[in-house]
Amino acid sequence: MSLLEIEEAWERVAACVAPLPAETVALDLALGRVAAEDAVSAVDLPPFDRSAMDGFAVRAADTASVPALQVVGELAAGDVAPSPLLPGTAIGITTGAALPSGADAVLRIEDAKVDGSRVTPLGPVAVGTAVRYRGEDVARGAVLAPAGCALGVQHVTALASAGVASVAVYRRPAVHVLATGTELLEIGAPPEPGRIHESNRLTLRMLAERAGAEVVVHPVVPDEPAATAEAVEAGLDGDVLAVSGGVSVGPHDHVKPALQQRGVEEVFWRVRLKPGKPLWFGRRGATLVFGLPGNPLSTVACFLLFVGPALRRLQGDAAAAPPYVPARLAIPARPADGRTTLLTARLERGGDGVLEATPTEGQGSHLTGALAASDGFVVVPHGAGELPAGSAVDALLL
Ligand code: AMP
Ligand code: MG
Repeated sequence: MSLLEIEEAWERVAACVAPLPAETVALDLALGRVAAEDAVSAVDLPPFDRSAMDGFAVRAADTASVPALQVVGELAAGDVAPSPLLPGTAIGITTGAALPSGADAVLRIEDAKVDGSRVTPLGPVAVGTAVRYRGEDVARGAVLAPAGCALGVQHVTALASAGVASVAVYRRPAVHVLATGTELLEIGAPPEPGRIHESNRLTLRMLAERAGAEVVVHPVVPDEPAATAEAVEAGLDGDVLAVSGGVSVGPHDHVKPALQQRGVEEVFWRVRLKPGKPLWFGRRGATLVFGLPGNPLSTVACFLLFVGPALRRLQGDAAAAPPYVPARLAIPARPADGRTTLLTARLERGGDGVLEATPTEGQGSHLTGALAASDGFVVVPHGAGELPAGSAVDALLL
């Protein structure tokens, strides 16, 4: 049986993903989206020469030559001076207020002696003192978030300051989620003999929404060929279809034939991965289809390694890849039966800041109890033999 290496499987997925078309969204919906075009400033920043301090707008030359300046008024933030500042005069000004024309410096309140309507500089003030010049931070048209940039709080804040109301971003993918299995009970349903509670649709919805997708959850599909083919068809009008269960080789695994019947072309099946070996991946037109093994931990592992990064790429994040983070084994660990093995593990920062990975005692693709006791997985490559404590490993965080 030939199994695809994880890296090769990811490359094949990535080769099938192109960014979705762009759309324009209001700035308050832009966080986390990827800019589809350069997002530029609509204004100069500051938009006008303004005071950086509380004090007096002055002509700098006067502060060296005129013993006391006549205070002719007061400008608060938001005010506009009605007339230019005349020689020999000063005007009170607060932080952020526009400098009157004629003024070229601000005499700070702490550098002045005020006596009624006259103000005496304690020393000469240089041109530009305490002035923030128009455009000195950002020029109108300057790029604040280049195309391809994932918009963070920093970009959205800068764009809001720059007079921008909306931004072009890649569309979110529509993800349809199906679960197959006659044995599956709805969440919270009363237990029934021989049946188990279904969790994968919720898991996939949480993970896909966290990855930026819009998720449509379909009803559970019984293990029957016709019902499976029908459900698959209903799930194929989105950008991504994620089907849980039914991709192994058992007599009740109807997903692969259903997908093939509905014109979904297989790209690969089976990866050298535990949990997650039976992963199936294909496409119909631009729609990507993941057939995920039904065991809950297999679903999580395959999502982290393949589905999640694909969803990020669809949203324009061209560098998205399996989100490995460096970690260090706290205890020895070994791969299972020739497959790269994802072990549920506690992942806690050690004193030196490195993530210390302690695999849970129980390991198995069905062990949701072990999953609950973990922070994610550590990756033990096949062929590594037993890795001693202290080994550098990759981890995947939940
Ligand atoms: P399958 O991939 O359909 O062979 O399922 C593998 C194992 O995962 C079986 O024990 C199933 O009962 C279980 N399973 C399948 N689908 C789900 C699901 N949606 N939620 C939780 N467990 C599931
Ligand atoms: Mg099944």
